[in-house]
Amino acid sequence: MGDNAPLKGRFAPSPTGRMHAGNVFSALVAWLVAKSTGGTIVLRIEDLDKERSKACFIDDAQRDFETLGLYWDEGPFFQHDRDEAYAAAFETLCEKGLVYPCFCTRADLHAASAPHHGEKLVYPGTCRGLDEAQRSLRAQQRTPAHRLRVGDEHISFADAIQGFYEQNLARDCGDFIVQRSDGAFAYQLAVVVDDAEQGVTSVVRGVDLLCSTPQQMHLQDLLGLPHPSYAHVPLIVAQHDRRLSKRDQDAALDALLDRFKTPAALIGHIAGITGLAPTCDPATPEELLANFDLAKLSHNLVDLEQIRWT
Ligand code: GLU
Repeated sequence: MGDNAPLKGRFAPSPTGRMHAGNVFSALVAWLVAKSTGGTIVLRIEDLDKERSKACFIDDAQRDFETLGLYWDEGPFFQHDRDEAYAAAFETLCEKGLVYPCFCTRADLHAASAPHHGEKLVYPGTCRGLDEAQRSLRAQQRTPAHRLRVGDEHISFADAIQGFYEQNLARDCGDFIVQRSDGAFAYQLAVVVDDAEQGVTSVVRGVDLLCSTPQQMHLQDLLGLPHPSYAHVPLIVAQHDRRLSKRDQDAALDALLDRFKTPAALIGHIAGITGLAPTCDPATPEELLANFDLAKLSHNLVDLEQIRWT
């Protein structure tokens, strides 16, 4: 991709709670990256988890983006009505002989494998070698999830913020879930199918998803889909290095707007503490665009993993 080609970025909120400062920061950077190239933004509501997704949070997310001046150009697209597209991709992987049923429970997985590379569990391959007879026997007791068989595959890429990142899929990730036992397609599969169909060329999101990127790039390769560019922003953390979560009421958007009074004061504050702007003075996304440079941002960041919310 040429350096100045217009990029298509995306906002991909999961409507499981109200946005917090960290969500606003990644959306702001996604918007600035796309708009600084004359590009566009897609809004995709990631309501794959039907139980935890709530209609009120879908409305809130759209209103929050609008209030903050983070306009999108296409969408909203929803994951809840994309099952056919995910099923087609799943079928392609099955036809390649790469998918197998996994009967392990969460407890089995925790007992079988030591946490590796932070919190990520590497699947030890328990169900990989089951034969047909064993599979049908197990299927009588438990509906299986489905995993993608991965090999001794090396995936590396240059993240625009985090720099060079690599994983050996077999060693660092293991065979991963592409369909859950309740029939829902996994986030890794859905996000890859959606990014490709919606023409997304720039993915900007929290660094907590950095370790998922090799899985997604591997799926793109298997499905013949292009790789977008990636930029993983630091997480904004609460006190004591604890991640902000949608349960942190004081960092939720209502509370933030109460505290900062205007959207520009909030955006300016986030820009100041993250190094997007030299001061915490009020600023709109358009105003930040004038001096935005992703390379400068990464240079200004003191910590690439986390920024303390103040
Ligand atoms: N829906 C995810 C979230 O809200 C983001 C997924 C992604 O950007 O790939 O954290």
